[in-house]
Amino acid sequence: MAVEKPNHTQTVPGWAAYDSSGKIAPYIFKRRENGVNDVTIKVLYCGICHTDLHHVKNDWGITMYPVVPGHEITGVITKVGSNVKNFKVGDRVGVGCLAASCLECEFCKSSQENYCDQIQFTYNGIFWDGSITYGGYSKMLVADHRYVVHVPDNLPMDAAAPLLCAGITVFSPMKDSQLLESPGKMVGIVGLGGLGHVAVKMAKAFGHHVTVISTSPSKEKEARQRLGADGFIVSTNEEQMLRGKRTLDVILDTVSAKHSLGPILELLKVNGTLVVVGAPDRPMDLPSFPLIFGKRAVKGSMTGGMKETQEMMDVCGKHNITCDVELIEPDQINEALDRLARNDVRYRFVIDIAGRSKL
Ligand code: NAP
Ligand code: ZN
Repeated sequence: MAVEKPNHTQTVPGWAAYDSSGKIAPYIFKRRENGVNDVTIKVLYCGICHTDLHHVKNDWGITMYPVVPGHEITGVITKVGSNVKNFKVGDRVGVGCLAASCLECEFCKSSQENYCDQIQFTYNGIFWDGSITYGGYSKMLVADHRYVVHVPDNLPMDAAAPLLCAGITVFSPMKDSQLLESPGKMVGIVGLGGLGHVAVKMAKAFGHHVTVISTSPSKEKEARQRLGADGFIVSTNEEQMLRGKRTLDVILDTVSAKHSLGPILELLKVNGTLVVVGAPDRPMDLPSFPLIFGKRAVKGSMTGGMKETQEMMDVCGKHNITCDVELIEPDQINEALDRLARNDVRYRFVIDIAGRSKL
């Protein structure tokens, strides 16, 4: 249970899962008062990330119930603390996965707060004051301004919301793999879901040849026509997988369920890199032969730092990259989570949190 803190005086309506059934129901809780480093945000939209599903179901065994999920948040600032200089009331902003970090380690000092070993997340984390953090399935959020970014004016707030997690999670490894400055690479995206579809859009905007590797043949047409993918491999089709052997420089694996990395590694050229961003609850198979025969590397990546998150938002603004969203009302969250679990979403559910009371 959340620790009650004396300055947690603000009553906030939200939506929480109470146990591992994962069912979401209304939840009224308290947030802290707006501190000197904080901004208060009226939440407009919140994306439903597969990580929310992992949490509400306690897939990873770390959920503290009741959990208020949501880390793809866009909204408008209604209050700023006295130390906050870079935001003002009325600003259009976004909040992603991060709520706090130590601010002192080498990673915090080099804008890689996401790798601070004391990182605390927007929900199911423990804030500096000892309270449990609650996410964006709620009407209002108080966030330390160091973990808030501006949303470019040309991006709609609903379709921009998933950029705060899905977007930065695929942008960061693309940047790390020099995909922003060297076009013409052969890029593979495994799993065409929330993360995967933004990855396709970004990799295309950065000038690469993009191949989707998917379990869903039904996604091929829209992957090519709407998202701009150049190639599409059905991962269960041996012939297609064989034809794709040794063709890709970099692959991002966004798959949410246990699978073998062996067949995916075979798609990489010699010296290619597979970056795993999906987070299945069980270990994935990593056979040694495809690794050693192709001098291939496997690495991971977790969300992004705050400087990089602002850069990603600005890059999306410049290239007009937004997410393909299915907008839902808060009372449809359970249905949306069920459909997400069945891989039935094109490509991200976004909750219209403010609804009719937007202005
Ligand atoms: P999503 O929208 O559900 O997409 C996942 C995709 O994986 C599906 O659309 C599907 O694509 C594929 N897939 C699902 N089950 C599969 C299976 N059994 N075998 C093979 N492919 C399967 O999920 P998401 O929101 O993009 O998140 C994906 C994963 O990334 C989750 O595990 C999430 O927790 C994790 N994540 C990690 C970070 C990070 O910082 N590293 C950040 C956010 C999310 P096809 O239909 O094309 O096969
Ligand atoms: Zn997420």
